Amino acid sequence: MSLDESIRNKYTVVIGLEVHAQLLTESKLFCGDSTAFGASPNTHISPISLGHPGTLPKLNRKAVDYAIKMGLACDCQITKENVFARKNYFYPDLPKGYQVTQDKAPICVGGKVWIKPKGAIEEKAIALNRIHMEEDAGKSIHTEDAMDTLVDYNRAGVPLIEIVTEPDLRSADEAYSFLTEVRKLVRYLEICDGNMEEGSLRCDANVSVMLKDAEQYGSKVEVKNMNSIRNVHRAIEHEAERLILLLEKGETIISETRDFDAGSGTTSSLRTKEELNDYRYFPEPDLSPLIVDENWIDEIKAQMPALPRELYQKFVTEYGIPDYDAQVLIDSKEVALYFDALCKETQNYKSASNLVMGPVKSYLNEHGSSIDQFSISPQRLAGLIKLVDEGKVSNTIANQQIFSKMLENQGSDAQAIAEEENLIQESSSENIQPIIDEVLSELSDKVKEYKSGRKGLIGLFVGEVMKRSKGKADPKKTNELLQQTLK
Ligand code: ADP
Ligand code: MG
Repeated sequence: MSLDESIRNKYTVVIGLEVHAQLLTESKLFCGDSTAFGASPNTHISPISLGHPGTLPKLNRKAVDYAIKMGLACDCQITKENVFARKNYFYPDLPKGYQVTQDKAPICVGGKVWIKPKGAIEEKAIALNRIHMEEDAGKSIHTEDAMDTLVDYNRAGVPLIEIVTEPDLRSADEAYSFLTEVRKLVRYLEICDGNMEEGSLRCDANVSVMLKDAEQYGSKVEVKNMNSIRNVHRAIEHEAERLILLLEKGETIISETRDFDAGSGTTSSLRTKEELNDYRYFPEPDLSPLIVDENWIDEIKAQMPALPRELYQKFVTEYGIPDYDAQVLIDSKEVALYFDALCKETQNYKSASNLVMGPVKSYLNEHGSSIDQFSISPQRLAGLIKLVDEGKVSNTIANQQIFSKMLENQGSDAQAIAEEENLIQESSSENIQPIIDEVLSELSDKVKEYKSGRKGLIGLFVGEVMKRSKGKADPKKTNELLQQTLK
């Protein structure tokens, strides 16, 4: 499907996202079952998570901490009196016949997430409607034999937060950027691993289209089952075009839930709104209201790490590094904090950024390791920057030779390695001048040509001096001295 630009431009695409994030608590939301991923089916279960009669839920305080953390990071209002609700429906992966969630009183209300899609100049705030807590369902496993469906209840009762945006997003690119930011946030906060492929971060996209001058949003469809941020982008692009084509044909759009197929990049109807369940929400009678007081919120505020947007702003304004560098550096919290620590050891922030984005990141990528395991401390790396700044070694020698020697020799600093390996540049005229004199007397013909106007020959002289000094002469100093001598 490919839609004519001029038709597409008649419409505005409107998107609201519902993002589920699995919280990294050790135990489930209402009982002590382990939440570890990848265990044998139905080994992390108990009468409570299976909803046996007579069992009682007990709230996991850590999950509440995590939800509040996310709320604070998104400038939400934190609800003081929380009531959990039962959402009733039947499905094989839901052993209790209801899901405990928050309906009328979500823990976080309002708030926003800042995005800056690729190519955009300004940041844009995407308003959140709410963030609420709920428990996950189990998993149905459809076997190749079409007659069988297996269920694994390990996931039943694992804590989730659901982040619901207002319909503020206007393109697949904005949705992409929003999800990238949310993933970054949960990872910085260490409340969710943010892995969409494994399902610890999931996203449903609500999409509608309307004519540019329309005053009301169009009917929305909800698209499910995208297991990567890229697939959310694809699904929205596809859905927007499909809806526009329907309107262009004069058809009306029915609100429905659609399934995304990653293979074909298309969607198909799962159920229409009329078929929707009535969930018969009512307050969970087995849990008392959850009261979040100021002390609790203050305690969490005190534990908040630096957030990506704050670090970005610090890097750009305080360290004066380019926007692009700052974006790359804040991508991972550990890298950002390493860079920040490095900037406490050196004043040459741009060199620091070049080193971290260049040799450091390539080393980590090559070895599949994280910067936590990186053996060069910010202090030692700053030593390397200093060496270059003092003109003692060239950038190339620093990045290619000394850097790798520093990785091998845990103890030695850059200066010691450069001396040991005889890599220190010669920049004293006392030592360079004799080589220059030698070169110029041997190349006296060239010197004549130079003096009669072929100034380009300076490169030849520099090259020759460099060669005879075995690459150690400081090229800048050599150039200066040559110019003087040739006057
Ligand atoms: P529902 O009643 O279907 O649950 P909600 O109003 O609760 O709908 O919104 C669910 C999600 O759909 C939210 O993320 C919201 O921003 C989004 N949404 C609501 N209306 C639209 C629309 N017309 N177009 C796109 N997204 C929408
Ligand atoms: Mg709703």
